[in-house]
Amino acid sequence: SIKGSYTQRIAQYDKSLRDQIMEEQALSGEMVPALTQGQFEVYLQPQINYENGALIGAEALVRWNHPQRGLLPPSVFVPLFERNGFITALDKYVWEQCCRTLRRWLDDTNQYVPIAVSVNISRIDIYNPHLCDYLIALVDGYQLPHTMLKLEITESAYMQNPEHLMTVVQTLRDAGFLIEMDDFGSGYSSLNTLKDVPVDLLKLDLKFLSSGQNDARGGNILSSVIRMAHWLKIPVIAEGVETQDQADYLKSLGCLYMQGYYFDKPMPIDTFESLLVLRPIDRTNRYKITNLSG
Ligand code: C2E
Ligand code: MG
Ligand code: MG
Ligand code: MG
Repeated sequence: SIKGSYTQRIAQYDKSLRDQIMEEQALSGEMVPALTQGQFEVYLQPQINYENGALIGAEALVRWNHPQRGLLPPSVFVPLFERNGFITALDKYVWEQCCRTLRRWLDDTNQYVPIAVSVNISRIDIYNPHLCDYLIALVDGYQLPHTMLKLEITESAYMQNPEHLMTVVQTLRDAGFLIEMDDFGSGYSSLNTLKDVPVDLLKLDLKFLSSGQNDARGGNILSSVIRMAHWLKIPVIAEGVETQDQADYLKSLGCLYMQGYYFDKPMPIDTFESLLVLRPIDRTNRYKITNLSG
């Protein structure tokens, strides 16, 4: 009966809600020891220049190497940690791992060709009054140029409190950090945000903007955003590039910087380091770039 299926659905809803609450309670109970035991692992995903196959950077993406549940993606724990406040501690850990890694590359330039690493700044971190001082002390502590640890702030953080965000971004840029606006185009005030907040790079996620040239409306938005960014002289990188068609289409629009599964998935730091020792030509071959100009 209708009533029967209704109450059944309510019961299922209650159950899945209860499961979710119990799972979150379990993860909350485990997060502090997990941090001290080194269960959080920083993965790096290559960013490339599609015109010449050069490796231009990497994004740091955290995973939880859980002893029972396996490798957990951030979607399982980052939203929870943003609610219970633990994201502040986790992000500091990720940033520090990146600084140590950058230091190691810079100390061994016979082996590595160092590149900058982008880290994610949670919208919660934006409200930490010590954020800027903390980042300066961290990066100075490892004697790194401030431009080597690039800071990704998601567009949604801009909407919560644009005034506050403007001040934070200004302070960070004055300190010499490069600011990247993550997930640009996912929100509804993108154009306003750009007008008010100066950033050094826009990250366009194909997931939000388009699946490629086959999607006419998405394609129009994508090409408009890229043209606008060029007009404003802000560099753009596309993320979520999964196919050669998408890469070729982005290139035809003048967007040459890309990140996505088509090139590489996020990988452990030591795997990533094997890319830094490759000669440029070997890297180019790795990224299957055949139509090199010049
Ligand atoms: P994000 O910063 O926008 O990162 C890009 C996401 O897209 C990553 O998911 C990446 O693995 C995924 N991705 C890259 N290329 C492709 C592709 O070709 N296809 C598809 N379908 N996906 C692709 P991931 O690693 O699961 O991270 C998800 C989100 O979690 C991140 O989105 C970021 O908002 C957050 N996050 C990850 N690491 C951290 C961290 O250390 N701190 C904070 N605060 N947030 C983090
Ligand atoms: Mg990001
Ligand atoms: Mg993104
Ligand atoms: Mg995101």
